[in-house]
Amino acid sequence: MSNFKFKKRYGQNFLKDDKTLNEIISNITVKPKSLIIEIGPGHGALTKKLVLLDADILAFEIDLEAKEELDKIKSSRLKIIYKDFLSVNLSDYVKDYENIYVVANIPYYITTPIIEKIINSNIKVGEMVLMVQKEVADRFAAKCGTNEYGYFTVYLNYYYDVKKICNVPKECFYPQPKVDSAIIKLTKKSSNEFINPKDLFAFVKQCFKFKRKNLKNNLSNYNLSTISEVLKRYNHDLTNRAEDLTLIEFIDIYKSLKSNFGM
Ligand code: SAM
Repeated sequence: MSNFKFKKRYGQNFLKDDKTLNEIISNITVKPKSLIIEIGPGHGALTKKLVLLDADILAFEIDLEAKEELDKIKSSRLKIIYKDFLSVNLSDYVKDYENIYVVANIPYYITTPIIEKIINSNIKVGEMVLMVQKEVADRFAAKCGTNEYGYFTVYLNYYYDVKKICNVPKECFYPQPKVDSAIIKLTKKSSNEFINPKDLFAFVKQCFKFKRKNLKNNLSNYNLSTISEVLKRYNHDLTNRAEDLTLIEFIDIYKSLKSNFGM
């Protein structure tokens, strides 16, 4: 540890607060035949607690210099892969597990790509407990009609129930980052097999295209009277902005456009 060089480019702010580490762990409900994936074990503050659970642990760490510290964790159920998480093919590593979790104090510079990768991978992650930047947690858990509510809120809420557990002050990390953090818990929702999420989210993205503009302006290329009909059911109209619509409303509008015009 003494000669270890902290690398800003890898988002290396290690957790040093035991209470926070226990808070993360207490939010996982491990079932039999489980696998926990950790992204960025660093010096193993969280990993040391994860290996005490009844689960196999698979950790991905980009920085080979962390190996010396991580080698000190002795557990036959821990496997560490020294690779960029974003570049690995998860199904090469994950087989025969009934329950898969992701538990991590993630490198903040790739928060969204990590979550998108997990959602788009062909492994089924039932729960995630993640440390993220506080502002990002607020955006992920934002309620419709608020400033923080945006495209990614809707996207994430389509796949997972999002719950903010608590804020974590910057003093809990070493070296101390400039921003505060928060723990969030994501719980998988059952999938809506009649919807093509790619199509749906291309449409949602268009709704949010210019955040200050209303739906009429952002959706001028779509059939506005069909959209207007659906909005009426929710006491909304085309002068509302995308941030006023719930996930259910986006889905209803999408379905209506799809069935009437193939989109
Ligand atoms: N889990 C440790 C803790 O809580 O103390 C370290 C967390 S630190 C915020 C993020 C970790 O992710 C660092 O160890 C960093 O090297 C690692 N990391 C950064 N980018 C990564 C990537 N693309 N793939 C895998 N690990 C990465």
